[in-house]
Amino acid sequence: MADEPRNGKGSGNGAANMRLAGKVAIITGAGRGIGQATALKFAEEGARVVVCDVSPEWIEDTVEHITRMGGDTMGYIADVRNMGSLRAMVDATVARWGKVDCLVNNAGIVMDAQIKNMTDDQFDRVIEINLKGVYNCTRAVVDTMLKQQSGVILNASSIVGLYGNFGQTNYAASKFGVIGMVKTWAKELGRKGIRANAVCPGFIETSILASIPERVIHALEERVPLGRLGKPEEIANTFAFLASDEASYINGAVIEVSGGLTL
Ligand code: NAP
Repeated sequence: MADEPRNGKGSGNGAANMRLAGKVAIITGAGRGIGQATALKFAEEGARVVVCDVSPEWIEDTVEHITRMGGDTMGYIADVRNMGSLRAMVDATVARWGKVDCLVNNAGIVMDAQIKNMTDDQFDRVIEINLKGVYNCTRAVVDTMLKQQSGVILNASSIVGLYGNFGQTNYAASKFGVIGMVKTWAKELGRKGIRANAVCPGFIETSILASIPERVIHALEERVPLGRLGKPEEIANTFAFLASDEASYINGAVIEVSGGLTL
């Protein structure tokens, strides 16, 4: 896939907490869902955001939102499976803004089937994007963060990465794997000024839930002590806090944001 920067720059950032003022963040899967909400939240708090996704139209949508808010942003078409694109994206970011303070490894897919029906293709594709993709992006950015002696690597795992789930052998393997990598990076990189953390969302209202029948969604809502699904903004808020200096002593953490679903 061809790499292609898409630029947008407004006149300044609107009033907000500005906990991320001056920071530069790369967010994968930022075209929609949790990734888009995270990109908007980071921009609202003053960060300059690289909107990475595979779909140009979704990238455009996020870039337009941020530009309208007065934020500084750059869209970048990159598949997390393509190391060359990811390295070029990091180079373009450093060329434009001089550094990378935060990587949010958010891009992810589901291809569900019970183990008796799962195909090798379903297993491999989910692992390639959800697990190897997280490794690829981190590998592409880590030299820059080591040079800086600072950085934050945030990762979307899932409650399925803690407890497993019916029909999700591939997804559970990928999300457990993300937690393993996060704990390893927290140990390897902590002394170099780089923090790594994982967020485990419960069931959040995005297109990833589109294939779940409505009656199952209702049953899920009833299992959540807060009585509802989560909103993408509620995960974005967690990422923004973890990216900020307020989270300066949080490293190797696995934070569940599920409305208490697993209690
Ligand atoms: P989503 O709405 O489907 O958004 C995911 C985004 O990632 C899409 O824009 C998608 O692009 C992009 N993407 C897919 N494959 C990619 C690739 N190879 N390279 C770059 N970008 C790619 O999903 P979401 O619900 O926001 O989920 C975001 C993350 O949270 C995922 O890691 C997911 O596993 C995790 N999570 C979600 C929930 C939930 O309930 N929603 C719960 C737990 C964890 P296209 O749409 O163009 O393919």
